[in-house]
Amino acid sequence: MLTCLEDPLPSNSTKHNLNEEYFKKEFFFSQQIGSTVPQYQNHQILPEQSMEDQGKITLCLDLDETLISSTMIQQCDYDFHFKLKSSVEGERCEEYFVKKRPNIEHFLRRCSEMFEVVVFTASLKPYADKILDELDPRGTLISHRLYRDSCSFFCGSFVKDLSLLNRDLNTVLLIDDLPASFQFHPENGLQIPRFEYHLKKKQNLSFIDNCLVEILKILETIFIQHEVISIIAQYN
Ligand SMILES: [Mg+2]
Repeated sequence: MLTCLEDPLPSNSTKHNLNEEYFKKEFFFSQQIGSTVPQYQNHQILPEQSMEDQGKITLCLDLDETLISSTMIQQCDYDFHFKLKSSVEGERCEEYFVKKRPNIEHFLRRCSEMFEVVVFTASLKPYADKILDELDPRGTLISHRLYRDSCSFFCGSFVKDLSLLNRDLNTVLLIDDLPASFQFHPENGLQIPRFEYHLKKKQNLSFIDNCLVEILKILETIFIQHEVISIIAQYN
């Protein structure tokens, strides 16, 4: 477990008991899209590596509370905001205010130099794409985007089944704030402390977050040694 000035999520937590705001978002998405969650995937969800990424370790990054913090409550210090219109209820629209995790620009740029970067989120495509288009406006940092429909729904959690990535599991790493996401392959997962900017601000807690810089030090080692499992084992 990485050390950080933030408290890590208790290991027995799931995405379904995190906070009120999560439920609000989930409710909106369920209204917007309907039930799109497959019970279990049984097909490969990534194409072969591109020529540019050939031979690179595949780094999967979660989105919410890993790279960004978003809220539907209006903020004054957000980095960007966007609106999503409901395809089900026509005129219904919700606005999201997004705070980027500190050092994310440097983190993504360096990761893209070292790895095949895949953002693997349990969020739905319309929401995730709005954010990823801001984080990677030229499409040069992230090789692939995987959304909720690529997750497997297991025991109440959205699990990111790394065996479906069409990659050698010895060369796959998932960084996620929720251990439940990598419960099928815990040896490939690295838990990052949750980035809950808006929640901490609401509680008037001081906020210092250097997690992406800390993670990058581990990733540099993984890149140099071209080894995932034994290095990650030192931190979990
Ligand atoms: Mg997350």
